[in-house]
Amino acid sequence: MPGYYLGADLGGTNFRIGVRAAGSPDLLLDRESFVAAPDWDCTALGEALRTGWDRILARHPELGVGADGCLGLGFGLTGDIDPLNGWCRTMPRFAGLEDQPLGAHLQAQLGVPVRLLNDGLAATLAELRAGAGMGTRDWLLITLGTGIGCGVVLGGRLLVGEGGRIGRVGHQVIDLDGPLGCHCGFRGCWQTFAGKEGVTGRAHTVAATHPDSQLAHALAEHPDLKRITELADAGDAASREVLRQTGTYVGIGLANLVKAFGPQKILVGGGIAENCRWLLDAAQEAVHGWAVKPYQRVPVVPAGFGKDAGLIGAVLLAEAGVC
Ligand SMILES: [Zn+2]
Repeated sequence: MPGYYLGADLGGTNFRIGVRAAGSPDLLLDRESFVAAPDWDCTALGEALRTGWDRILARHPELGVGADGCLGLGFGLTGDIDPLNGWCRTMPRFAGLEDQPLGAHLQAQLGVPVRLLNDGLAATLAELRAGAGMGTRDWLLITLGTGIGCGVVLGGRLLVGEGGRIGRVGHQVIDLDGPLGCHCGFRGCWQTFAGKEGVTGRAHTVAATHPDSQLAHALAEHPDLKRITELADAGDAASREVLRQTGTYVGIGLANLVKAFGPQKILVGGGIAENCRWLLDAAQEAVHGWAVKPYQRVPVVPAGFGKDAGLIGAVLLAEAGVC
């Protein structure tokens, strides 16, 4: 039996678990997902992981029983994660996981080797080793979700930095007079404009000036980026405006990153953003308008793995580490 790798991905809202059979061309053999509970501590998180793992094993008896055959767990998490010692320094939305030796805890609880990484870096690892970043030397990935994840690849290597702290670009301030509301406590962070809550707030603002739009009628459903994209694709002008404005904010932040890193291309992912031409076109336009020569032509393109990127990065992390 060649064995298998276990991956896990904890974002702001969802918790996903997947398995990759060693040596298989399929990056993910199977997966499970849960709604994440904000009161999870290390033990509760390990129990949820065990539950998803057991469900996958029940469907794949060829993988073995319990931890037999598992070659390791890779785990991407939102927050400030030190990949060297598996320490979880900060975890927005999960107070019980803050400042905890999560890697050592899970290793003892589950009985397998554990590697941890910030989720934006894990998604970038997936695109670097098996996706849209293959063959490009210098590039960036951002993931749009509750916040904004990011990874930077220069010279074909993922930059991790001391304590795994490279990539917290969602907290770059793009408006000194912008809203409070980011969990970091500062005003005007990029992700308050281009993350989930920014999109929701913008939908209400635009709908107020377009009371007969499909967007206005959909507000009671609390439309997310996916729903607003569906409405835009169906012809709703107000929804397109929300996506264009969001894309402009995305692009302004990207233009700053272009000036810092000089990438050959930028990947945009997060599960829905990669299918949203209204948002991507506006982001590309903003990069053209706000970056400096010669980088204003850097292409803004969809990431390859959609919402699976973090989970694929996690199983690849289990397999080969971060470097
Ligand atoms: Zn912030």
